[in-house]
Amino acid sequence: MRSYYAASVPASAPAPPLVGEQRCDVCVVGAGLTGLTAALELAARGFDVIVLEAHTVGWGASGRSGGQLIFGYACDMPALARLVTPEDARRLWDWSLEAVADVRARVVRHAIDCDWADGQIHVALKPRQRDELREWQALLARAYGYDGLEFVAGDALAAHVASPRYCAGLYDPRGAHLHPLKYVRGLAGAAREAGVRLHEQSRALRIARGAAPVVHTGAGQVHCRYVVLAGNAYLGPLVPELDRRIMPVGTYIVASAPLGAALAARCLPTNAAVTDLNFVLDYFRCSADHRMLFGGRVSYSKIPPPNLSGSMRARMRRVFPQLAAVPIDHAWGGYVDITLNRAPDFGRLDGTLYYAQGFSGHGMATTGLAGRVIAEALAGDATRLDVFARIPHRDFPGGRWLRTPSLVLAMLYYRLRDWL
Ligand SMILES: Cc1cc2nc3c(=O)[nH]c(=O)nc-3n(C[C@H](O)[C@H](O)[C@H](O)COP(=O)(O)OP(=O)(O)OC[C@H]3O[C@@H](n4cnc5c(N)ncnc54)[C@H](O)[C@@H]3O)c2cc1C
Repeated sequence: MRSYYAASVPASAPAPPLVGEQRCDVCVVGAGLTGLTAALELAARGFDVIVLEAHTVGWGASGRSGGQLIFGYACDMPALARLVTPEDARRLWDWSLEAVADVRARVVRHAIDCDWADGQIHVALKPRQRDELREWQALLARAYGYDGLEFVAGDALAAHVASPRYCAGLYDPRGAHLHPLKYVRGLAGAAREAGVRLHEQSRALRIARGAAPVVHTGAGQVHCRYVVLAGNAYLGPLVPELDRRIMPVGTYIVASAPLGAALAARCLPTNAAVTDLNFVLDYFRCSADHRMLFGGRVSYSKIPPPNLSGSMRARMRRVFPQLAAVPIDHAWGGYVDITLNRAPDFGRLDGTLYYAQGFSGHGMATTGLAGRVIAEALAGDATRLDVFARIPHRDFPGGRWLRTPSLVLAMLYYRLRDWL
């Protein structure tokens, strides 16, 4: 996986592939943020854990992400509140805040050097979105008691984001951003120190499901009491009933050449991470070495957009004309796992298979929550997992082959709305 993140960390010592028969309490499939936090939380509760990763630690979305830690869920609270009871909506909100705080706590506890920076801001491009930000701020304060958000416009907005493209923003000092590959690798190191056995280059090819599941890779098998499925958009058809409920959607990021500290600070004076309110959104932030990491675009096919660097550079220039002459050093993409309603999909199958997916592009923090609630459930307290499991989910219409055209049609409406 080539990216700025991969290029900015030293090569890590590979974990050995799984060979032969192994036994453990819990076999986790996938070494991204969900799988590794689940492994850490399970090890802390006394479980013997094996993690199988098809590629390398953080190879999936976790090691490629925009790195923004944001409250809430991709579907937003009003939509989530329509899916569950008001009491459950309130719990889910509180846990989303816990999720962000937990990332902060894990970084400190395990001394993970991952370029942590405080501050995140949502920005509006037009008056309609400016009104949405105000309503959002009022709703979060009124219904959920979240009152630390700061509405900014004019000079106060420019103090965070020096761009002519935006008319208002909602700044959250409790949001943050980090280097996601450093973070996920740090979690892997902590998990191994806690006794978790990690195997890279070990794709789970088949699971013999039942009371005593067996996970088969090309060269070995894991006999276990429970399986945690944390393969997300990359899991594919291993468990068909999960595959039908998510749709992998490509999203892309470029890293500019280093801007230097002064120019970076002129663009983003408080070093906050930024996300705009469009459906096909731009999201960006500065790296610790003062590059602009600029994300956006979507692709519903498995084919990356043509001329990715050029088109992303044009998007970056639209936001920061002052960066017109700055070259792009890295371009990459990855899949987010969207559900039909954009709400997270956590739960269990057969009594022995636990899963978390459907972060819908909003998983940097909620993946850690998923790992924790699954560990809690396996340790005997399924209260929180059950709240998530009550969120209703449906299969994408059209099955494996037709869900892409169906989704593209549905998304067209939202893309058009971005223009209004
Ligand atoms: C470009 C991009 C930008 C993003 N930006 C943000 C952001 O700024 N903020 C935010 O909140 N979210 C963001 N997201 C989403 C966020 O990164 C994800 O929600 C989160 O990382 C998902 O973590 P995960 O561990 O569940 O899955 P992943 O990180 O995808 O990990 C799944 C792992 O499972 C492995 N795997 C799959 N199948 C198997 C198998 N059969 N056997 C063994 N291993 C298997 C894969 O190789 C992979 O490593 C972004 C995503 C992308 C792609």
